[in-house]
Amino acid sequence: MNANCPHLEDIRTVTPSALGCEECLKIGSRWLHLRLCRTCGHVGCCDDSPHRHATQHFHATRHPLIEGYDPPEGWVWCYVDEVFFDLPPELTTPQRGPIPRYY
Ligand SMILES: [Zn+2]
Ligand SMILES: [Zn+2]
Ligand SMILES: [Zn+2]
Repeated sequence: MNANCPHLEDIRTVTPSALGCEECLKIGSRWLHLRLCRTCGHVGCCDDSPHRHATQHFHATRHPLIEGYDPPEGWVWCYVDEVFFDLPPELTTPQRGPIPRYY
């Protein structure tokens, strides 16, 4: 789709790992928005959330692509190249169930 980001070719169809941020659910924390890893399906919270689990997931795994997911917002962000891309509806990940919301 874009020559600026070689990772987009590796975008995968994933099943979200949890209804909300995996780590926040475990520790009973809250989040603002959710990000879905398009390499492994990890659900983490955004950088405006207290724990920034999506970014932590990237640093731990180097999985580059996250999708705005709460509900699906139709974009992906590449951490490595720091670029946004629009996702066509057929490439967005459907919500797995009601997502807990706090704000
Ligand atoms: Zn990239
Ligand atoms: Zn979190
Ligand atoms: Zn991942």
